[in-house]
Amino acid sequence: MPTASLLSLSADELAERVTALGGRAFHGRAARREVLERGVLDYAAMTSLPAALREALSHELPILAGRERLRTVASDRTTKLLVDFPGREGKDPVETVHIPPHDPASEKGATLCVSTQVGCPVGCPFCASGLAGLSRNLAAHEILEQFVLGRAVGPLGRAVVMGIGEPLLNLPALTEALDAVHDEMGMGARKVTVSTVGFPDRLRRAARSEPRFQLAISLHTADDAQRDELVPAMRGVPVEEVLAAGDDWFEVTGREVTYEVALLGGENDTPGHAERLARRLRGRRCTVNLIPWNPSPELPFARPRPGQPEAFREALAERGVVATVRWSRGLDGDAACGQLRHRHAGTA
Ligand code: SF4
Repeated sequence: MPTASLLSLSADELAERVTALGGRAFHGRAARREVLERGVLDYAAMTSLPAALREALSHELPILAGRERLRTVASDRTTKLLVDFPGREGKDPVETVHIPPHDPASEKGATLCVSTQVGCPVGCPFCASGLAGLSRNLAAHEILEQFVLGRAVGPLGRAVVMGIGEPLLNLPALTEALDAVHDEMGMGARKVTVSTVGFPDRLRRAARSEPRFQLAISLHTADDAQRDELVPAMRGVPVEEVLAAGDDWFEVTGREVTYEVALLGGENDTPGHAERLARRLRGRRCTVNLIPWNPSPELPFARPRPGQPEAFREALAERGVVATVRWSRGLDGDAACGQLRHRHAGTA
């Protein structure tokens, strides 16, 4: 049975719990503010609460439901957290990656790579996360707790919802979590990018729901048959339909789409692939992120040859499509948000 935490309770539930412990309803709101606004993760430090209530809360209501099970820190300071949630200890940890700016003196803050599901139902063959399929959707507070834990590692500048899972298949929980991230933690909507494989109907609905995030679509290839292979959950959905949904997103929200391509050596990184992608994207208001794939021993793909990602980018640029090569960070800590050991889009 999942254990309640300060962040998992609704406003009414929290008021009730705090009142039952001898406090007043507003003390619950104050405690939540301490956590989300100020990053306080210890009741003892919440001096705006009565001492007796702080003591009672510390025994009765954990601030976070999740417990950090493992932390790895790569040589470039990228930190990967594995977090266990109650009832599932050791079974399906949630992965979050904190990617600091390249320049340690920078005040930009880190990029946090956030997961929305445990496992993933999309089944991309180049991604270890999809191998075992979906285990479960994360609850809103489990997504929110990743932000809280990530900020405890170091200040955050932005977040990318590009961790494990397909965000559009868990959009209500993600939306609830992002509302708290924006309104209570103070991270602006333009600082959060959500990456999806781009289910057209879901995207069109999301565009009309006043989304509070930037959109990235993991396209991976301009070729219909190849996309059927690389993104199995989208089998039978023509690339042009995905792009049309991206155009619709731009028209409705006024925000440009970023298209992502995980470059797989010899598979989708050839000059022909670049040319066909450019043909599809030319004239569209968008940019492209090219993400050289990180080798994963259990997967039958290769990293692009040296210079190939840059050649791909130039081939796009010559045809009027703006692209950036994004190398994943934290590889020696198994923590790149591109393919942790997984993934479709790792950037910093
Ligand atoms: S690359 Fe992304 S969408 Fe594809 S299986 Fe992995 S987590 Fe899911």
